Amino acid sequence: ATFGTLSDRLADTFRNLRTKGKLSAADVDGTVREIRRALLEADVSLDVVKAFTAKVRDRALGNEVSKALNPAQQVVQIVNEELVGILGGQHRRLQFAKKPPTVIMLAGLQGAGKTTLAGKLAKWLVKDGHTPMLVAADLQRPNAVNQLQVVGSQAGVHVFAPEPGNGVGDPVRVAKDAVKYAERQQYDTVIVDTAGRLGVDAELMKQAANIRKAVDPDEVLFVIDAMIGQDAVATAKAFQDGVDFTGVVLSKLDGDARGGAALSVASVTGRPIIFASTGESLDDFEPFHPDRMASRILDLGDMLTLIEQAQEAFDEDEARKVAEKIASDQFTLDDFLGQMQQLRGAGSLKKMIGMLPGAGQMKQQLDQFDEKEIVRTEAIIQSMTPAERKNHKLLNGSRRLRIARGSGMTVTDVNQLIARFEQAAKMMRTVARGGVPQIPGMGPI
Ligand code: GDP
Repeated sequence: ATFGTLSDRLADTFRNLRTKGKLSAADVDGTVREIRRALLEADVSLDVVKAFTAKVRDRALGNEVSKALNPAQQVVQIVNEELVGILGGQHRRLQFAKKPPTVIMLAGLQGAGKTTLAGKLAKWLVKDGHTPMLVAADLQRPNAVNQLQVVGSQAGVHVFAPEPGNGVGDPVRVAKDAVKYAERQQYDTVIVDTAGRLGVDAELMKQAANIRKAVDPDEVLFVIDAMIGQDAVATAKAFQDGVDFTGVVLSKLDGDARGGAALSVASVTGRPIIFASTGESLDDFEPFHPDRMASRILDLGDMLTLIEQAQEAFDEDEARKVAEKIASDQFTLDDFLGQMQQLRGAGSLKKMIGMLPGAGQMKQQLDQFDEKEIVRTEAIIQSMTPAERKNHKLLNGSRRLRIARGSGMTVTDVNQLIARFEQAAKMMRTVARGGVPQIPGMGPI
């Protein structure tokens, strides 16, 4: 998955550091060199890599590290902070017009994921209490209007499209008419899908710029396919010069991209990444948080996103109960099982596990992960007595053996499950208390 190799490389670099007490200038230089190589291999643009490593090096040689109790951890912390910085710093929220309708225009190359994004954004807005409408201003591709209509019906929102033979070929007029229509019909958000080309070209830019002039959008979102690697920077700059945009959406972050686009675009254009698209279904979509992305890259686990998604998957009552239990240290194996079962309902268990700290290292197991895991977990937990489920500390050797026999598993399976449960409970307690999850073996950072 995206960032996989980069995460692995950085983890190796930090593992080497960890064995050192004090860091010499040579240690710092060696680390910075490795980080530099890892970033370049991930297709991050050279300018961004240079600026990034220079900052990390300066700080790593400075006072904050030499005075730190654990210099290696301090270096990880610095890399984390600087990563957050190049990803744009603070999360930037979507901006709405003071007087509706809010107009959001989408721009980007053909295949970047604009049409899909239109549906995702609409669905997300509906969930948030808005009344969005989609506009088919991509009149270039024969099937584009159709595709938007499909996406619109999946999201359950109205699609404004030119009548056949009326306004066909004039996307500027369609966009303008759409905004007027939205005002009359009281839609509060208008999402304008525009045409893309396979490569950057002047006519495409002019058309997009004209649409922008005509409807004066509150947001112009530049959608970029994270898989395009090195080309990301040039494409982003071309769109910035030709149309300009207020924010970026990274799409296909679920793919095998090496992550370079994500890491370059915000700092090269100075525009924030507002959303990330992570799959073909309309729910594979999330607001982009630079700090969470950085900790995902550094494999610190993305606990906040995980918790938010878990909360969506849970019914709210259940989520509140679990949160209370976690905070008061009463999270039990029963709760753990309940959580797993509910996550299965969310259908994205694998993705969520991928966000857990240390997931980078268990990627292989993760790829082999399947729903059978939940079935096994169920079998094991259901072979426990109610008292054992409430208090896993009761589970001594002979009880574990009994449970293994009862569930048709091995004692190793039972041990692994309990270890996983303990790790999850610990992480959740840390997060519930506002802490940062630990990197195994490194202590809190
Ligand atoms: P457009 O030409 O910019 O409108 O791009 P589309 O929305 O038509 O998307 C192009 C292709 O990419 C389609 O097959 C989409 O299903 C797919 N796609 C869009 N977003 C994502 C994503 O986040 N992840 C993956 N894996 N595929 C995506």
